[in-house]
Amino acid sequence: MNTGHLYVISAPSGTGKTSLVKALIEKDPSIRLSVSTTTREPRASEVNGKDYFFVKKEDFDKQINNNEFLEWAYVYGNFYGTSATLVKNSINRGEKVLLEIDWQGALQIKQRYTKGRLTLIFVVPPSLEILKERLQKRGQDKVSVIAERLAAATEEMAKSDNFDYVIINDKFDTAVSELYRIINCS
Ligand code: 5GP
Repeated sequence: MNTGHLYVISAPSGTGKTSLVKALIEKDPSIRLSVSTTTREPRASEVNGKDYFFVKKEDFDKQINNNEFLEWAYVYGNFYGTSATLVKNSINRGEKVLLEIDWQGALQIKQRYTKGRLTLIFVVPPSLEILKERLQKRGQDKVSVIAERLAAATEEMAKSDNFDYVIINDKFDTAVSELYRIINCS
C-alpha cells in the first residue's frame, strides 16, 4: 500500500534551508532526502550522487524528453530536476520523502500530486537585510550573483501563499523544531 508522504521545502537562496534540512534529518533519520539532478558545476565540497547528480545539459534534456522528472526548473542560470522514479520508490515503501527545491518545482508538484499526501513548506528570512548578510557571509557567490539572488528573493517570497506552512528562519533551533513538528504532524 502507498502510505508515504511527500514534503516539499522551498526558500529564497541564503535563507538557511539546507542547514535546516540537515538538522531536521539528524533529528529524524527516517526522512529520505531526494537527490536532485542538475546541470550546475559541482562546488568544491559537493559529491556526485550525494549532493546532486551532476549532468551535462544534453543528458538533462534527454531525461526531460523521457519524462524522468517529477518536476524540473531553470533556477539562477542552471537546470534542476527531481527524479520521478526515486521519489515513487520511496513513497511506495511508505517513507517520508523530502524535496528541497525551488518554488517553481513546488508549484508543479502541487498541480500534479495527490492532495493529502503532500505538504508544502516555505522558509523565509526574518528580513531582506538579514538575507543579504547571510548571502555575503556564506562567501559562496560572486557579488553580482548575490545581487541577483536578493532581487529574486522579493519575487520568490510573494509565492509563499501557495504553501501550506511558512517558517521564519530567525532563531535556527526554533525553526528546526517547527519543521520537525510540521513533518511529524501531517
Ligand atoms: P543550489 O545551486 O544553490 O544548490 O540550488 C539553487 C536552487 O535550486 C535552490 O533554490 C534549490 O532548492 C533549487 N533546487 C535544487 N534541486 C532542485 C530540483 O530538483 N528542482 C527544482 N525545481 N529546484 C531545485
